[in-house]
Amino acid sequence: MEQTFIMIKPDGVQRGLVGEIISRFEKKGFYLKGLKMVSVERSFAEKHYADLSAKPFFAGLVEYIISGPVVAMVWAGKNVVVTGRKIIGATNPADSAPGTIRGDLAIEIGRNVIHGSDSIESASKEIALWFPEGVAEWQSNLHPWIYE
Ligand code: UDP
Ligand code: MG
Repeated sequence: MEQTFIMIKPDGVQRGLVGEIISRFEKKGFYLKGLKMVSVERSFAEKHYADLSAKPFFAGLVEYIISGPVVAMVWAGKNVVVTGRKIIGATNPADSAPGTIRGDLAIEIGRNVIHGSDSIESASKEIALWFPEGVAEWQSNLHPWIYE
């Protein structure tokens, strides 16, 4: 089953949004396969965001991600990469639709509370980076009530 990497950023943790965010993915029907709270080092944050290293906001982005603990997760389900991005909303919360996490819970692009992989390829890279120990193998007993 398709998997994606989701991270609640330090502002989401500080603002007490962890339960709310997990709840949205759980209620959708996605399966939580990995979960941990970690404070990452600068070099790790730079590696996670390596594709953005040439961007003018890169230094600020890295400072933001290392400013406190984050909640790193792996979620699984049909189309979870694309649907996860829809649940999260547009990068800039000013453009995120109401009903999305960023649309409901954030104001500024540099404090947008959550990360989600943007493709199946980046999901597998990010899962390998954040969960080298692997993730849980399980499926809900409610599976036939979620999938036909
Ligand atoms: N970001 C920023 N300023 C920008 C663009 C992005 O601070 O002009 C931050 C923002 O926190 C965003 C992260 O950099 O979530 C990664 O950017 P990306 O384009 O990958 O957006 P995402 O995939 O998170 O929607
Ligand atoms: Mg991105």
